[in-house]
Amino acid sequence: MGREESRAERLRQQYYIERMRDAVLEETAETGRAPTYYIETLGCQMNAKDSEKLAGILDEIGYVPASLEDTADFVLYNTCTVRENANLKVYGHLGHLNSVRKKSNPGMKIAVCGCMMQEPDEVQTVREKYPFVNIVFGTHNIFKLAELMYRMRTEDRMVIDVWEGTDEIIEDLPAIRKYPFKSGVNIMYGCNNFCSYCIVPYVRGRERSRDRADILSEIRALAEDGVVEVMLLGQNVNSYGKTLDPPVSFPELLRDIEQIDGIERIRFMTSHPKDLSPELIDVLASSRKICNHFHLPLQSGSDRILKAMNRHYTKEKYLQIAGELRARVPGIAVTTDIIVGFPGETEEDFLETMDVVERVRFESAFTFIYSPRTGTPAAKMENPVPEEVVKDRFNRLLARVQQIGQEESGRDEGRVLPVLVETVNHQDSRMVTGRLTNNTVVHLYGDASLIGKIVPVRLRESKGFYYIGELCRREGQAG
Ligand code: SF4
Repeated sequence: MGREESRAERLRQQYYIERMRDAVLEETAETGRAPTYYIETLGCQMNAKDSEKLAGILDEIGYVPASLEDTADFVLYNTCTVRENANLKVYGHLGHLNSVRKKSNPGMKIAVCGCMMQEPDEVQTVREKYPFVNIVFGTHNIFKLAELMYRMRTEDRMVIDVWEGTDEIIEDLPAIRKYPFKSGVNIMYGCNNFCSYCIVPYVRGRERSRDRADILSEIRALAEDGVVEVMLLGQNVNSYGKTLDPPVSFPELLRDIEQIDGIERIRFMTSHPKDLSPELIDVLASSRKICNHFHLPLQSGSDRILKAMNRHYTKEKYLQIAGELRARVPGIAVTTDIIVGFPGETEEDFLETMDVVERVRFESAFTFIYSPRTGTPAAKMENPVPEEVVKDRFNRLLARVQQIGQEESGRDEGRVLPVLVETVNHQDSRMVTGRLTNNTVVHLYGDASLIGKIVPVRLRESKGFYYIGELCRREGQAG
């Protein structure tokens, strides 16, 4: 779909936003209060960003956030399906909502969207076992929420609108940001990598990149609106721009974003080692704004398992990249994802993974026990690893990763480094909490007036995975 059609679709949705707004105004006049909404977001940062857009549409229609799920007039579940049992959690919630509806909130409307609804079996389950759900849609058409709510009000049946795939990108959707000073920015959607254990390509579709101009104008608007940090989002940001005509490379896009005034910090995820270009490391090494935190999923250190996972890189390639990052980007934190217990994994394979852990010394790692995901090639693979063996390997890996993380974490103790203050501390309201550019958490004494500011902090003491810091005088003095 070209820009013209995308713009026409955006206008078409604006028509439904206005129809819904009229209906809500009428309703508000009758009831004396605006209808409320509650969004439950499961899964990754892509889902969190989608939920900000869904909240933006509801806000444009005239809904206001509900304080509690059970009292909301409209409840929306934005689902994840990466793990087999993620679905069970959603069904549990729907069961709870149905009893709430019956007991205390008969007018409640319920919608389910996101990755789980991209699976036909799950849509069938909702249709048959949860007939009280009002709207079902997927990941490709979240921009249609107002239209689907309009249909919910005009059609006396469950509204189901799930697209198998799309080449559409609808721009300029309203969004309600979770944080005033930082924001996720989608740069691309979908994934073409088909790692054999992963369901994402089946539920998020084929890769499609947003136009560079649209991304830059969104980030300029965010900067004008007080955002100092952006997180560029994509399943595989390193292949950004391949579908554009003419193609644009991810490093080129980063260079453009670097020029935008007001943006002080640039983060991005997720990178795939197979598409990581030397040019990207050049940009990282010369940038003043790109944060020195690089999340680079390894998954396994064994070439045999990497092949079975369809990851398209080798242990040596991964080590070479990690080595290059450490050599060229000062103080960089390299974090990763590792799967233990992939079908056919031997002790030798596992020791290859442990060898990478020893040599890269990750600042932290997300470690997962392999869980077969119906619909993926790996789910059909023979030779499952016995549970007790997997558990043993998982515990050995976790212990070593945490130990290394601890050893690496204190290296900046005593230094003065910039911290973006994000919240008042949850444990001690006399303190605030923020992050270094390498994503390490810092707690320091200070009040809410520091939130959203990048301040110089002396890192007094390392406490393992975070620091206790002290605001440097220059910033702390009143008047
Ligand atoms: S790169 Fe692989 S693991 Fe990541 S989303 Fe794509 S298929 Fe899944």
